[in-house]
Amino acid sequence: MFYIGCHLSPSAGLLAMGQTALSIGATTMQFFTRNPRGSKAKPIDPDDAAALMDLCRANGFGPLVAHAPYTINPCSKDEHTREFAQMTLADDLRRMEYLPGNLYNFHPGSHTGQGLEAGISLIADTLNAILTPEIRTTVLLETMAGKGTEVGGRFEELREILDRVALSDKMGVCLDTCHVSDAGYDIVHDLDGVLTEFDKVIGLHRLKAVHVNDSLNPCGARKDRHARIGEGFLGTETFRRVVNHPALQGLPMVLETPNELEGYAREIALLKELHG
Ligand code: FE
Ligand code: FE
Ligand code: ZN
Repeated sequence: MFYIGCHLSPSAGLLAMGQTALSIGATTMQFFTRNPRGSKAKPIDPDDAAALMDLCRANGFGPLVAHAPYTINPCSKDEHTREFAQMTLADDLRRMEYLPGNLYNFHPGSHTGQGLEAGISLIADTLNAILTPEIRTTVLLETMAGKGTEVGGRFEELREILDRVALSDKMGVCLDTCHVSDAGYDIVHDLDGVLTEFDKVIGLHRLKAVHVNDSLNPCGARKDRHARIGEGFLGTETFRRVVNHPALQGLPMVLETPNELEGYAREIALLKELHG
């Protein structure tokens, strides 16, 4: 099964979001758990959540990807910022129990000058504080572009975090094509080699989702500016290889390209065509 979708807004409700996904040919979707810049979270309506789950089951959707607000930073040098991140992540995991069996992706964070080692250990501490054996969600670390003091630009950094999490069976990784290229992994010329490296360092069994984004910048630029599919340095042929790569089959693939709904519908159709 080819699970393809895009980032959508849950502001009109979860079921409405699922119906929008259906209307553009999607078979998965991603959404922010709350305002991406702020902290406000609308309480989840259990009936609405159940209705979305029913719609996904009835239409053979793949796992959904919830995305944490990108402003939280579990490894900031500021203690209040870290506490806020931990509180937000914990609250989101409680909310995700209304959508059991899905994925929750977050940016590991920026060490803000403390160094990689300190950053990695603070991120692992946060995860160890919030993960419980009962949760039915898999928490994903996203591969990052390595912008500024971001942690997670190198596969080794993600592996190091995973190694320090006690309940590591609750953890996985989301690979973002724009981010890995920006971080210096050449998926245009050697997708195979990059995925082999991912397997060697992290293990492909940890890979649970893919963000399909072209990049406005060349490999290694560390900029993190997404482009529409075929309009950046990765190019359409790279995405043909991505959607057909044996190691990525069956994973939910989510577009986070600069698009309105119609643009997403076109990109979903394009990727389905590339998938063949
Ligand atoms: Fe992200
Ligand atoms: Fe992403
Ligand atoms: Zn990005």
